[in-house]
Amino acid sequence: MNWSGWGDPDKAVELPDEVRRLLGEVLGVREPARPAAGLGEVRLPDPALPERVRDGLAAIAGDAHVRADDETRIRHTRGKSTPDLLRMRAGDGSDAPDAVVYPGSHDEVVEILRLCSEHRVAVVPFGGGTSVVGGLAPVREGYAGVVALDLSRLNRLVEVDPVSMVAELEPGLRAPQAEDLLAGYGLTLGHFPQSYEYATLGGFAANRSSGQASAGYGRFDDMVVGLTVATPRGTLRLGRAPRSAAGPDLRQVILGSEGAFGVITSLRLRVRPVPTARIQEGWRFESFTAGTAALRRLAQDGRLPAILRLSDETETLIGLARPTEIGAAPAMSGCLAIVGYEGGQDDVADLRKRTAEALTRMGGEYLGTEPGERWAEERFAAPYLRDALLAAGATVETLETACFWSGIPRLYEAVRSALTAALGKPLVMCHISHVYATGASLYFTVATAQTADPVGQWAAAKRAANEAIIEAGGTISHHHGVGRDHLPAYAAEIGELGAEILRAIKERIDPAGILNPGVLIP
Ligand SMILES: Cc1cc2nc3c(=O)[nH]c(=O)nc-3n(C[C@H](O)[C@H](O)[C@H](O)COP(=O)(O)OP(=O)(O)OC[C@H]3O[C@@H](n4cnc5c(N)ncnc54)[C@H](O)[C@@H]3O)c2cc1C
Repeated sequence: MNWSGWGDPDKAVELPDEVRRLLGEVLGVREPARPAAGLGEVRLPDPALPERVRDGLAAIAGDAHVRADDETRIRHTRGKSTPDLLRMRAGDGSDAPDAVVYPGSHDEVVEILRLCSEHRVAVVPFGGGTSVVGGLAPVREGYAGVVALDLSRLNRLVEVDPVSMVAELEPGLRAPQAEDLLAGYGLTLGHFPQSYEYATLGGFAANRSSGQASAGYGRFDDMVVGLTVATPRGTLRLGRAPRSAAGPDLRQVILGSEGAFGVITSLRLRVRPVPTARIQEGWRFESFTAGTAALRRLAQDGRLPAILRLSDETETLIGLARPTEIGAAPAMSGCLAIVGYEGGQDDVADLRKRTAEALTRMGGEYLGTEPGERWAEERFAAPYLRDALLAAGATVETLETACFWSGIPRLYEAVRSALTAALGKPLVMCHISHVYATGASLYFTVATAQTADPVGQWAAAKRAANEAIIEAGGTISHHHGVGRDHLPAYAAEIGELGAEILRAIKERIDPAGILNPGVLIP
């Protein structure tokens, strides 16, 4: 993973000159005054971990599995939000952990948490490092040091129960590794977020992630049937049955807990057969309003395709533009929807026919499979483009929310207005990509010219957007989580009693408060 950007450095992209020119003309983008810092130029805090804690960690995990060299610390600093990347590009490594430990088993994690509790050392569970909400940058003050707990050695497929269609997997598996292992049994999770190449199963559960095929396969938290969790107080094993009436479901307390309540060391997940047919196609709607109504109809009327995604007018225009065609007439007016089907051949054919009838009735125009295939081919490319845009002097960031269908128009307008007011002349695009019978999520992408303080510039815009989300009745996150970035808005969303309940759980499960301090708990 590129330490100050996204993904495989060999897949880095360059912006065509035409695009740079247009960014300058339309958004006023100018090259940043300073080039990005190199790896050797990143400023790190002096390592603060007490000697006896370092020795204790080495005794538990093995000397080779405790590292404190600069590069390892830098690679475990913060996540991959745009402010995270901007800070790294500016050489700011102030949130680096003092050391990184790589445990090899659940028992080692339990022992590490005991040791760190005893010495008041903060512990940050670290999966793929793709958090976009400040979930990997804990508060340091009041702690003897900060340790990142890299879970990459917990990477086994433990067991498959083909009768129940459940697989037990370890949390450090990245999504493609998990898919490869499951494919050996003809199975899939069907979880394909845009961070698919790097994010881990533990991170998905700890953040209630949602993938691009959520309409068909469900959110990640829908797939979790059981969890093993290491806490400073010992082990929690949750989930004896798919559903239970034995009191509140404690799995739900751990899902979305962002490493603040414990470390997920094993997951039992619902799996599905690998599909034999996959088709993606495009549909056109006259407007975002018309397309939204069509998606709602589908979500309320029966079985859904695996992928359902509707871009607003701006995202449609930008998404379909190609550098070679800039200046030509827009490729399409209205809004583009991508609809994808996965399953057995007959099943897909049947659902496709019924969906096409419904979309046509709702004013949709079939565009063939080309737009869907193009989307599928490029669906993991956007984060690479973000790096190129940051280097060119544009800030590009995303944010997301959700609400009930009746509130969607107001939420959409509120967030767009807040971002536009805060940033002056930004480009604000939006799509719907996760739908339910009762509502949907809105996912915004924003592009603007960087000021001399791009981190402060985005912080102000994000604050305004968050306030607008709460004011308009949306949730502060549909799938990115809370981290540190969303704490004030999350506090407003759950109220003081809600915050007290979270604090009470935290105090009981993690009395020394070492797990990801400052994250999640208002
Ligand atoms: C370019 C990009 C695209 C993205 N697209 C999507 C998307 O489509 N859908 C989506 O849902 N999200 C998306 N995200 C957000 C992110 O990928 C998800 O939140 C993901 O679930 C994080 O997984 P991770 O393994 O990288 O976790 P990390 O970033 O390593 O950790 C995230 C949080 O979870 C905690 N944690 C990690 N592992 C464990 C564990 N085993 N036990 C307890 N706590 C743990 C960490 O302490 C931290 O608080 C995207 C992010 C980026 C940068």
